Amino acid sequence: MIKRIALLGSTGSIGTQTLEVIDGLGDDYQVVALAAGGNYELLAKQISKYKPEYAALVNEKNLEKLKTIVNGERCQFGKGPEGQLLAARWPSADLVVIAQVGFSGFEPLIAALESGKRIALANKESLVIGGEILQRFGLLDRERIFPVDSEHSAIKQCWTAKYQEEIARIYITASGGPFYGMTQTELQKVTPQDALKHPNWQMGPKITIDSATMMNKGLEVIEAKWLFDLSLDQIKVVIHRQSIVHSMVEYVDGSTIAQLGMPDMRTPIQYALTYPERKKSLVRSYNPYGTTLTFAEPDHVNFPSLKLAFRAAEAGGTMPAVLNGANEVAVELFLAGTLIFNAIPILIEKVMALHDNIKIPEVSDVIAANHWARNMALEVGSVLRERMD
Ligand code: MG
Repeated sequence: MIKRIALLGSTGSIGTQTLEVIDGLGDDYQVVALAAGGNYELLAKQISKYKPEYAALVNEKNLEKLKTIVNGERCQFGKGPEGQLLAARWPSADLVVIAQVGFSGFEPLIAALESGKRIALANKESLVIGGEILQRFGLLDRERIFPVDSEHSAIKQCWTAKYQEEIARIYITASGGPFYGMTQTELQKVTPQDALKHPNWQMGPKITIDSATMMNKGLEVIEAKWLFDLSLDQIKVVIHRQSIVHSMVEYVDGSTIAQLGMPDMRTPIQYALTYPERKKSLVRSYNPYGTTLTFAEPDHVNFPSLKLAFRAAEAGGTMPAVLNGANEVAVELFLAGTLIFNAIPILIEKVMALHDNIKIPEVSDVIAANHWARNMALEVGSVLRERMD
């Protein structure tokens, strides 16, 4: 059966890898809609190659340039956030891949869920921020959401339970990032360039920094809570430097099932696309001979972001949106060279402490909380910088 795919965030890291996977899968997988943020030149190449029915550019000021380059292609165009939402609802698509970074994935996720699509979800922020709302409004249809995050894909693959009571807990694995084992003093000197050299994974800059602070794991804990309907004390994080075991599910009978593979995002992307089948892939398989796999407890003293995420998840309401918004700004400031690495969790903690949590939020409340957190993070960031100068 032919699968028709709408791909949002097509020019980003997950987006381009999704297209590689589609290339490898052959003619049964067709791209019918594309949406990109601002990279119109790459989007133009994708339109020429995949011939989608529809393409949207969120940053609308380059739409005319895009149209000029692809002049002659039979494709409808959309622009702005509305244009992106139309891609998420594109009528002929049966699978929507949501692959943009950050909060901008939330509204497309709602649109795709409301349109009855199957979803391959690479945007963890939308569940972090909106998981509780989706659940309360009966939109969190777990049968239709396929995680494109290596850990959550692993959990999905290891999940053989008929009943929720069969699950004891899950272990989400974390590489620990490039700075694992460093002291506070050493961490003060690390640069964005150091942080962007992830030892195992090829990813975009935001998630690579999140991986270095362990905030990525914190966001994944909240993501897992909503995807698998778990309580926070059922979710454990384990440091696994080799990034071969992508996560584990422990059952009440004492069995633990793990998924192993090379650290390559094309594996979880392809699983989400071909589920329930498995197909030959471009990724080489893991050869266990002569390898050593290690597992350790996280270092909460030098990497406090993980605990902040647990705290935000426990508080619920708008607090996860504040955690996420403050973290986005902290990462931007670090990448711009105006915030030191150790100050990232300090900034987030201060913003969280200043927030008046709305326990049962509407969509507009989490959007407002996100804006509030971003502005407050900028303020707190400049205070922290003055103090350090
Ligand atoms: Mg992950």
